[in-house]
Amino acid sequence: MTTEALASLLPVAPRPAAEERLSSWLSRVAGIYGMSANGLLAHFGLAGVSALTLERGLSPGQGALIAARASLSAQTIDGMTFAALAPHARVMIAPSARYFCPSCAKTPGIGRKDAALPWTFWCSVHGVRLCARDKRPMECFLPERVLERLDPLARRGAARLAAWAEERDAVGEIDPPTIPELLRFLTTSYRRPSPPSLAEQPRLSLEARRANHAFLTRPIVRQALLVVAPEYDRFAPVLAKPVRPGLAALACGSLLQNYALAVGVARLTENPVEHAAAALAAADAEGETNLRRILTTWPSATRRRIGVELRRLTDAQPAGKAPRRRRLQRSSINYARVPQISARLVP
Ligand SMILES: [Zn+2]
Repeated sequence: MTTEALASLLPVAPRPAAEERLSSWLSRVAGIYGMSANGLLAHFGLAGVSALTLERGLSPGQGALIAARASLSAQTIDGMTFAALAPHARVMIAPSARYFCPSCAKTPGIGRKDAALPWTFWCSVHGVRLCARDKRPMECFLPERVLERLDPLARRGAARLAAWAEERDAVGEIDPPTIPELLRFLTTSYRRPSPPSLAEQPRLSLEARRANHAFLTRPIVRQALLVVAPEYDRFAPVLAKPVRPGLAALACGSLLQNYALAVGVARLTENPVEHAAAALAAADAEGETNLRRILTTWPSATRRRIGVELRRLTDAQPAGKAPRRRRLQRSSINYARVPQISARLVP
């Protein structure tokens, strides 16, 4: 090694922790020398590039440069990046941990890769269930008995989302709908926006009702996710129910919202016909048009089966009664009370 190369080596550079992301490791190294991560990168000869940009995928030259200065292999440096994520999924990378791991909190300087991704509901290092960013555990949002039932679905949905992010979602490639198509369906309105129903309102005195008039009359967007994951509809705070459209729902979602989306993805993957038909059956005229527009990209064979299932759902009612669809249109948010749907889908 030349004297010059020796002089450029950092005297101390900690090894990356398990699953640590490059931006976290660079900040830790920089901290030892009283520098910022950007200052350290400039020292490495990478001025003007942020750590967050670098960790999305290094050029071979950049990786080799950092590796040489820190006496680590280029492979170790690359292992701290999100290079495995396809470009279409990089929007999902959060600049810091999305949720809260009580065990990771003991070493707050270490940021882990999986913690940046919206479908990580259990810490990849400690295996514990993650809490919301404000440290509230999932049990604050969903009862334990419901979580027990939904966890396997959330894990399967998360696994498919992770596969899609790394362009190895065989399910979507062989047998669409793809992940973006499923998320478009879940985030499409199936009914017109409506104010909180009685079941969604907290118990309020007459005085409090007057004071909270704006909340009680505020129209809430009603998306198909509420039908596919009725547990979410039942337990999520009403104002926090709406999610953004399509992939942005995941990228910007809270822990509870993303958990519900993963459950929705798993259900639609495993039984697209039944769940899509249930959403159509619960839809009002405008919502049905919205959902049908989304369904045009689904395979025609699946669409035909959805049509058959929808007819089965809407035709099956006692003689002499108004058709189910019309009853649903008149009520506010009553699909959960339709016995045929609720018996199967609501906890
Ligand atoms: Zn952890």
